[in-house]
Amino acid sequence: MIYFDNAATTSVSSDVLMRMAPYQQQQYGNASSIHQMGRLARQAIEQSRRTVASWIGVNFKEIVFTSGGTEAIHSALFGVFMASVRRHIVVSAIEHHAVLHTVHFLETLGAEVTVVSPDANGYMDVNQIVTAMRKDTLLVSVMAVNNELGTIEPIFAIAQAVKKMDPHVVVHSDMVQSLGMQKLNLGASDIDLASFSAHKIHGPKGVGALYIRQGTPWKPVFYGGSQERERRAGTENVAGIVGFAAAIETLETHFAHRLLHIEAVNRLFWHGISDIEGVKRHGSESCVPSILNISVSGIQNEILLMRLDLQGVCASAGSACTAGSLKPSHVLLACGYPLSVVNESIRFSFSEDNTLEEAKQAAEIFRHIVYEIRNR
Ligand code: PLP
Repeated sequence: MIYFDNAATTSVSSDVLMRMAPYQQQQYGNASSIHQMGRLARQAIEQSRRTVASWIGVNFKEIVFTSGGTEAIHSALFGVFMASVRRHIVVSAIEHHAVLHTVHFLETLGAEVTVVSPDANGYMDVNQIVTAMRKDTLLVSVMAVNNELGTIEPIFAIAQAVKKMDPHVVVHSDMVQSLGMQKLNLGASDIDLASFSAHKIHGPKGVGALYIRQGTPWKPVFYGGSQERERRAGTENVAGIVGFAAAIETLETHFAHRLLHIEAVNRLFWHGISDIEGVKRHGSESCVPSILNISVSGIQNEILLMRLDLQGVCASAGSACTAGSLKPSHVLLACGYPLSVVNESIRFSFSEDNTLEEAKQAAEIFRHIVYEIRNR
């Protein structure tokens, strides 16, 4: 099996699993309990919080653990909306559905949402974001790395420009696809809130984090226990949180080397298929190496994905959330690609697990399938 769908999720590394295991069996205490078992769990969570915070350059008190990227985003957007009397929100058209569907739900509660389109390469323009702002704008949310195209968005410049225009506007960024690809220093940026997920960086599924800059007007959306300094009620997923931090530690130890390897896999695979007639690469030069989005003219992505799957190559079209239904990608449509091209688009996404040999093999399989379909 060649797994080229790492933007959907990644394998949990054995080191991470090993670090998590004790918190499921021997040290399974509830972190809110005051006895020894509880204190051990609490210690593990607080240590993990410092690891996550340090990797993204913020204070540990500004990290709230969540059940994943979707919850972090939901909590960010809802929390800011509830804390403000303003009603206008600006988002990019290429956001993950976790953002888009949430702001559309907020519309039913009185929010007014302006959706800003990217350029043809999926790149957001700083000026267009600022121009979309109004006197009553409460929030701007733009992702750091797009999950379908891999485009690196100018989120730091956007945050700076937004704050310059109106320092009261809160800036959120979905950094789920950025965490393993960019070395972040959010403390030194103008970003107020950022959402993360563990399972995109070889951590476990069902755990994530929300960065909330101290002083940001925000209200919790979960009520009950006083966990996470009363910002997210509910018994903590101790093993998951430990796994998240362990994944970050692994990332940290070989960050540059890992990026170079992923880049080499991407390059070799692309080199092996780029000369096929009608194969086109989408997105700009400024993309993370983990994502390659292409289309093959005259071949529907559904057919190509099925044939690749039969040959043991996993890839996807659009985000994993819509992969089951294969709806045309809202990201590519927002970039202005015609529907015919959108329906021919496939995303390959790589991780450190992939080998150069796999890149060569997958390219051969891909060539063969395209040849077969065209000469049927
Ligand atoms: N944002 C982006 C850019 C993503 O790629 C994903 C996952 O596909 C999410 C948010 C949602 O994260 P999670 O699966 O942890 O809920």
